[in-house]
Amino acid sequence: MTTYSFEFFPPKTEAGTQTLWDAIRRVEPLAPDFVSVTYGAGGTSRDRTVEITKRIATETTLRPVAHLTAVGHSVAELRHIVGQYADAGVRDVLVLRGDPPGDPRGPWTPHPRGLTYAYELVELVRSLGNFTIGVAAFPERHPRSADWESDIEHFVAKCRAGADYAITQMFFDVEDYLRLRDRVAAAGCGIPIIPEIMPATDVRQICRFAQLSNAAFPEDLAHRLEAVRDDPARGHAIGVAHATAMAERLLAEGAPGLHYITLNRSAAALEIHRAVQSSRSLHAC
Ligand code: FAD
Repeated sequence: MTTYSFEFFPPKTEAGTQTLWDAIRRVEPLAPDFVSVTYGAGGTSRDRTVEITKRIATETTLRPVAHLTAVGHSVAELRHIVGQYADAGVRDVLVLRGDPPGDPRGPWTPHPRGLTYAYELVELVRSLGNFTIGVAAFPERHPRSADWESDIEHFVAKCRAGADYAITQMFFDVEDYLRLRDRVAAAGCGIPIIPEIMPATDVRQICRFAQLSNAAFPEDLAHRLEAVRDDPARGHAIGVAHATAMAERLLAEGAPGLHYITLNRSAAALEIHRAVQSSRSLHAC
């Protein structure tokens, strides 16, 4: 079965909260397999992640997946957060190590009573109850990994610790995803790896994201978006067409699902989703 899912983030303002809920309500009638809410680098955005995830669980028909990172938390705090989710009926956690707050590329320092790697948090969540656990995968290798061998070894450690599936970092070349999937399979790990789909509709924004996530951005797409940088409608059309083609190829290559980044504005993600669905039903005829 192919899964479809959408990712949201906790907004900072009242207006942002309204935009988020409008987007959630637009996604809801499509009955996606799940929606996920990212976990902030620190402070109040983390409480908002917990609140929003609980609200999705109790006030919508959607299945929420709570992102959780080890950054700045003791094990006792992590246990408490997972307990809060369990009490609200949230049984799905996307377990991440997280990046250092401030400078994501800066040195990683674990909390003195906390955890160092994501596989330890997978073990912790697994020990706390019956959760479905997702982890992160990196089609272009994690930026801190010295080589592919150690990257795959550490990914497989997350599977062995109890991960049920993975979602990838954003990427723009399908071959990168296919190579990662082959490497993971060759290392004896068979969990589904769901590709993340990032609609690249605005050249300024996408370059910033691609830099942060270490994803190589295709030059031809960058040029085409650059040429229409002051025409949002054309940028939108180019980004949606590119992401749709990628999504269709990924499914044709056997990807187990698609996880759409919405940036809390569902329009582009929904357009891609609908285009993919209609082309799949045409092929099924
Ligand atoms: P890990 O699996 O712990 O890996 C981190 C690095 O450590 C890798 O280089 C790995 O090879 C290495 N490593 C692992 N185990 C060992 C070991 N035993 N010995 C030596 N080295 C080891 N960040 C947020 O802050 N909030 C979010 O909501 C969020 N959501 C995300 C969602 C997705 C789908 C993805 C792909 C990433 C997300 N991130 C998020 C970013 C993520 O937290 C960072 O990319 C982080 O740097 C890596 O997290 P990880 O869970 O892969 O860590």
